[in-house]
Amino acid sequence: MSEIVFDCPECKSPLKVDESGSGMVVDCPHCSKKIQVPRKPTPIAVVGSAAQPPLPPSRPSDPKPGANIPVFKNEPILVLILGFVTCGLYLIYWNIKMAEVLNAVAGRTVISPVAAILSGCCVPVNVYYYYLAGGTLTQVGALIGKPELKDKSTMMVLLGIFFPMVAAMILQGHVNEIYEKKA
Ligand SMILES: [Zn+2]
Repeated sequence: MSEIVFDCPECKSPLKVDESGSGMVVDCPHCSKKIQVPRKPTPIAVVGSAAQPPLPPSRPSDPKPGANIPVFKNEPILVLILGFVTCGLYLIYWNIKMAEVLNAVAGRTVISPVAAILSGCCVPVNVYYYYLAGGTLTQVGALIGKPELKDKSTMMVLLGIFFPMVAAMILQGHVNEIYEKKA
C-alpha cells in the first residue's frame, strides 16, 4: 500500500497517512487540529509507487582486438557471382559487412560505415577501402596464424585499383579462415 506524505498545514509536522485516507479530515497527532489529507498525491509525495526499476547493470565494454567478430562467411566465388548478378549492389552490402568484420578484428573503427557504403559507388573510395582493409591484414594474419599477411597490404591496394573483385575474394578467403580457426 502507498502512503501519502505531507506536512500538517497547521504545525508543519511531517505526516504519513495511508492512501485510503486521501481527502479525509483527520486530527493531526502533533497539534491535534483538524486537517485534511491531500486528495491527489503527487508522485513525490507517494512513497512506494514512484520507485524506479533498477537500471540494468552496464555491460563492461572492453573492445579487445579480435573479440566479438561478426560472422560474415561466404564462398569467395559466391561474392564474385553475386557481385555480377546484382550489378554491384551486393558489393555495397559486402563492403559494409566486411568493414564490420575488419573493424572488429582491429578492435577499432578502421573503415567507417560511410567509407564502406561509398566504396561501392565510387572507384577512388573503393581503392581507399582496400588500402584500409589491407592495413588490417596484419591483425587478420595474427588471428589465423599467418603473419606473412602483413606484407600484403600493398597488394590489396593494387588489386583494389585493377581487380577489386579479386581483392574482395582474397579478403573474404582470409576472413573465412578466422571462423574456421575458431571452430
Ligand atoms: Zn499539526
